[in-house]
Amino acid sequence: MRFAAVAGRAVLVDGDRALDVQDGSGGRFPADPMAVLGQWEALRDWAVGREIGAAEQSFAVDPARLTAPVPRPRQVFAVALNYPPHAAEAGFTPPSDPLVFTKFPTCIAGPVTTIELPPGKVDWEAELVAVIGAPAHRVPVDRAWQVVAGLTVGQDISERVVQSRGAPAQFGLGKSFPGFGPTGPVLVTADEFADPDDLEITGLLNGEVVQHDRTSSMIFSVPELIARISAIVPLLPGDLIFTGTPAGVGNRRNPPRYLRPGDELVSRIETIGELRQHFSQSTPSTPETQEVRIP
Ligand code: ZN
Repeated sequence: MRFAAVAGRAVLVDGDRALDVQDGSGGRFPADPMAVLGQWEALRDWAVGREIGAAEQSFAVDPARLTAPVPRPRQVFAVALNYPPHAAEAGFTPPSDPLVFTKFPTCIAGPVTTIELPPGKVDWEAELVAVIGAPAHRVPVDRAWQVVAGLTVGQDISERVVQSRGAPAQFGLGKSFPGFGPTGPVLVTADEFADPDDLEITGLLNGEVVQHDRTSSMIFSVPELIARISAIVPLLPGDLIFTGTPAGVGNRRNPPRYLRPGDELVSRIETIGELRQHFSQSTPSTPETQEVRIP
């Protein structure tokens, strides 16, 4: 099953067609993707065997109208140094425990966006994102896939000056500027993959491949991460786990390369699809006049 949001409304996707979840179910399910994620098992049962693309109410998907499949997650976890080559390029030995930090949820955005660059050094991190589909506390590794609603693509956009400020540095703020968490284009259930633990992941900057790996390279797999995080924190439907980025981020290039106005960043995972971000100049403003967009 492929789940997405069009202009904020939950849809099921079949090829290039979409069916509005609320309209298509005759009102049985709500329009808000967050509310639908709270009834994930019921939605899956309802969708089994249903011809989504052939449904009379289905419509053509316009990629530009897709919004974040999970627009208001209550918790957003992210994992540092989860691919050995990225740990090496960052100058660390692979960690023995997951290095977990948070992206604050207001940074979450849809798959096709323009991001205003704040001052500093803004970098890219293409990542697989696991979306939680059921309340989950102390989940063992062998049951972890059962609490996953599906997988999507994420960009852990990071401003490196704020990220590395202080000793020890705290990652959260530098990774949470508005728009710094693009996600989508769809959320895909695990049964749609030949092997959900082994997916090709690619990051392209202005058409050049800058990141390329397979998620099977991750030090801590999706089930491992869920087991270790849920051992401490109860997970909630719609929570996101950004699972770490492969090698090839901008600040480890020689010379370093950061995002500039006019750049195009594409983040792609096989079977799921791709994100497309453009970047614009920052507009200076005081905190008083700063407009805050609530997703
Ligand atoms: Zn990251």
